[in-house]
Amino acid sequence: MSAIVLPHLWEDLCGLIWPPRCPACDVPCAPTHEPVLAFCELCAEALVPVTSPRCPICALPFDGVGPDHACGECLRSPPAFDSAFAAFEYGGPAATACLRFKAGKAHLARPLGQILASLAADLPQVDIVAPVPLHNRRLARRGYNPSALLAAHLAAAIGAPLRTAGLWRTRNTPSQTQLNINARKKNLEGAFLADERTFGGLRVLLVDDVLTTTATCRAASRALRQAGAAQIHVACLLRAT
Ligand SMILES: [Zn+2]
Ligand SMILES: [Zn+2]
Repeated sequence: MSAIVLPHLWEDLCGLIWPPRCPACDVPCAPTHEPVLAFCELCAEALVPVTSPRCPICALPFDGVGPDHACGECLRSPPAFDSAFAAFEYGGPAATACLRFKAGKAHLARPLGQILASLAADLPQVDIVAPVPLHNRRLARRGYNPSALLAAHLAAAIGAPLRTAGLWRTRNTPSQTQLNINARKKNLEGAFLADERTFGGLRVLLVDDVLTTTATCRAASRALRQAGAAQIHVACLLRAT
């Protein structure tokens, strides 16, 4: 029996004993190896993939049809990262699943990580995968870093090493959710530090769960650039518009 068949057989057996549940609405679903089908039929129909036309730098999707082009924000203030990729637009069942994942349902790393890993074929070649870190105090409170769990799936899919050390959040910044884009940028100034020995000269894939104003990834990327990273690409599960 081949090494490829065995994990699927094990998954199928587990699926019979513990049927998987929709990551958003928690209804039992038929076992599947297809990541998007990890959602129930109703929730899967409401998912909106990030497709062209989009900004190739920050993955912001545009309405209508036409070619990809840089968005106004990336033209006015180019980020330190080179490009960004996102699986789905933020909202509906995708947002619900992500919020559940971040609120203690760490086991959702598997279906959501598989969805993130489905971006693998579109991504540029990289040398190293690094999650956006949490501050140690926040990590201690939550118990896990959602971005690190997602990054592990993507790193395995593209066959690049995962580095969860070497990029640190040096300030425990207040929550970003109530702040506008300028306040978010200010809030995150100097909040990250990266190690030159880990990232110097390398092409880095930075992983985050949700890309909203891009302020967090911009700040983390600046630290990576200062540490000598040759290229920085961002992969995230959801892109808020
Ligand atoms: Zn559902
Ligand atoms: Zn952009």
